[in-house]
Amino acid sequence: MKKSNFYYLTETFHSIEHFFIVKITLSRIYTNVKIMGKRPHLFYGKIKLTIAISLFFFQLITAHAFAHVNVSINIAKPEHHLANVQLDFEQVAIEKVNFYLPSWRTGKYQTLNLANGIREFTARDSQGNILNWHKIDKDTWQVTGTKNKKIHLSYQVYANELAKRTRHIDDSHAFLDSSAVVMYSKESRYLKHVVQLTVPKAWRSFSGLASGENNHQFIAKNYDQLVDSPIETGINEHHKFRHEERDYELVIWGEGNYDSSKMLKDLQVLVKQSKHIWQDYPFKRYVFMVHATSGAKGATEHVNSTIIQRLRFKFSSRKDYLGFITTAAHEFVHTWNVKQYRPQGVVPYDYQQENYSNLLWLVEGSTSYLQYQLLLRGNLMTADEFLSALAKRITAHIHKPGQASQSVAQASFDAWISEGGDYGNNHSVNIYSEGFFASWLLDFSILDKTALAKSYRNVHNQLYQQHRLPLSYNEDDVQGILKHTTGENYQDWWQKNIHGTAKTDFGPLLAKAGLEMSYAKGEDTKSNESLKAWTGIKTRNSAHGVTISSVEKNSPAWQAGLTMDDIIVAVNGLRIVDKDLSNRLTDFKAQQTITVTFFRRDKLKMANVKLVAIAKNKLKITPIAKASVEQKAFFKAWTGVNFPEKK
Ligand SMILES: [Zn+2]
Repeated sequence: MKKSNFYYLTETFHSIEHFFIVKITLSRIYTNVKIMGKRPHLFYGKIKLTIAISLFFFQLITAHAFAHVNVSINIAKPEHHLANVQLDFEQVAIEKVNFYLPSWRTGKYQTLNLANGIREFTARDSQGNILNWHKIDKDTWQVTGTKNKKIHLSYQVYANELAKRTRHIDDSHAFLDSSAVVMYSKESRYLKHVVQLTVPKAWRSFSGLASGENNHQFIAKNYDQLVDSPIETGINEHHKFRHEERDYELVIWGEGNYDSSKMLKDLQVLVKQSKHIWQDYPFKRYVFMVHATSGAKGATEHVNSTIIQRLRFKFSSRKDYLGFITTAAHEFVHTWNVKQYRPQGVVPYDYQQENYSNLLWLVEGSTSYLQYQLLLRGNLMTADEFLSALAKRITAHIHKPGQASQSVAQASFDAWISEGGDYGNNHSVNIYSEGFFASWLLDFSILDKTALAKSYRNVHNQLYQQHRLPLSYNEDDVQGILKHTTGENYQDWWQKNIHGTAKTDFGPLLAKAGLEMSYAKGEDTKSNESLKAWTGIKTRNSAHGVTISSVEKNSPAWQAGLTMDDIIVAVNGLRIVDKDLSNRLTDFKAQQTITVTFFRRDKLKMANVKLVAIAKNKLKITPIAKASVEQKAFFKAWTGVNFPEKK
């Protein structure tokens, strides 16, 4: 579907107040012109014309302001994952109307089969007469005979996909992302939506949307706001806090080992810290929704809310809690980065097809980078914890051969068809992890060029100040901000690091901040004690045996021709049952050759794998012994916290 000019129009003139501002401004201009004595009549004529145009918009907007779509969602039998949806649309002047369900949802740049849960679709006019309809593609219902009629749609939705964060209904709750539940038409997209839920007794409903006339009614300014404001209704725990005249809510569904008072305290810290980057908050109310459950983990950002899913017993230990609060920080950063400013190509959202951009690495990877800024500066994560998270990211990067084949710009464009696993690791990069490194490089480059006066935080501040919706930004805009911030041209850098596959040398980068990488605490990394034999194979649990999930490109197993889904049955003629092959490998040394017996599509095969040595210990990033004053200052400017002295 073409991006509508009406989008820009409604965003610019989105309320009647704007009209009065325009009108007052015009009368001021007229008064000023009269005072200046500069041929007021000519100006007056022009102003009369402008007022006439404004009046036209006024009529358009007032009609627009009162027109709305009624959405009724009835969850009478939640145990069967079903909802009955009824939609009432305003009268239209056209003979046929296309009603769409989006083919993706915001926050996940992949097409989804959202329309597959729709059954028992009917269309009627306001007298109850049946209107004919047929599907013209998988997501589009075309209703005919609609001229000068109000349209009433009704259909059933099957909602049983918790982990996709699209729609889930059971006997204890419902999570509804409207892109998976509510249809729209081109004519209705920019109209107000009034959503009325009918839910079992004792359920409580929450959303980032404004509340309506009762506890289960919500009002959306338009369809875009509706689909970017999921609804959580059910049996849940609810908490509130207030900061700088804004309301924050925490809604938790499910049981688990979480401590909601600690969560609440730390979420307040994230809120306070974010202001230091963006200067203000683009909302009046924000809702943190948490699912403590089984079989679902992950999170999605929305315009003034987020949904965070975690395994129910993954909240309590320090490691697990850090996981939770890091995710919360990531999603909260998105409140600005993507919900307030986002790349051209993703503005406005086109819900029916892929929205292409070379900059999704900046949307996701920079969010992963900035999350640590909130955590470190708010003392929610120690410097040591940050350095071990960084070491983990570098380790994953080193074992990702795909970085030589795909740039972050290409990965952004192809996010819609990206794959994980073996293929993803060996031949592609990920916008989150590699986008993190691109952001880190930019941050250090800015700190360097401005003698620590500016950082990558300033770039995001400027994206927010200059490119807020309904505007967007492109690659030239980002380079323009970089030039403005540092006084230097970033064209070559951009070509090399964003469109190219330049290798990062982490040693000199870390040295700037007085840090170094090593695999063993002060030990000789060349000694045998600190090395182990390595194949390059990763395995997974399978009923069939030790199944290969991935083989790192150019590793010994790759050279020997082993590949994913091969089932290893023996090493050197002896059966292997442990899923962890590396346990067996401890009996071997680097340079030894082992014979691997495996099944490939039921056929027994053999391969000789010549083992190589890799470090036994995990990569560590530690402060150097005698860091200079400059290095310590660099660390402080980068992280906001004091340099951690060597222990
Ligand atoms: Zn994200």
